[in-house]
Amino acid sequence: MTKKKSKPHSAKASWGKELKFVCDRMLGTLARFLRILGYDTLYPEESRDAELLFLAYTQGRVLLTRDTKMGTRISPNIFVIKSAVPEEQLKKVVKEFKLKTGENLFTRCLECNTPLVEVEKKEVKGRVPPYVFKHHDEFAKCPKCKKYYWSGTHIERMEERIKKWEEWMR
Ligand SMILES: [Zn+2]
Repeated sequence: MTKKKSKPHSAKASWGKELKFVCDRMLGTLARFLRILGYDTLYPEESRDAELLFLAYTQGRVLLTRDTKMGTRISPNIFVIKSAVPEEQLKKVVKEFKLKTGENLFTRCLECNTPLVEVEKKEVKGRVPPYVFKHHDEFAKCPKCKKYYWSGTHIERMEERIKKWEEWMR
């Protein structure tokens, strides 16, 4: 147990500035939270240990897992999450890796992790609900799954939530 604790610390210095993650199947909500914060986070459908480890190693990602057995492997790339509560999990990861919570919000597709691109308002006409088109001017699109994003109530709600997280994290 004590060994496990020291592993993420020893690795942190070498992560560089751009942290990337891969989450196991138990951490779907956490994966979305990390994407909301703008962090490149994979959430593979297949998540056999070997595949998760392969992704972590070959792409320089931190493997976030709820599987305590994974933490016994000799690897600095593995961070075991004990809590089953997504917001607690996020809090833990933000603290451990000193993540930025306000700089790159909503720059990544929540569904597929692809960076979003800004689009002009005229492009979304007929592609978003009419009331959304009427009341919003800034839109972004996922180039991969073609999903549109706009700063609406759902984003405002998320921002409130993030503010709350930030209060907890102090
Ligand atoms: Zn997408």
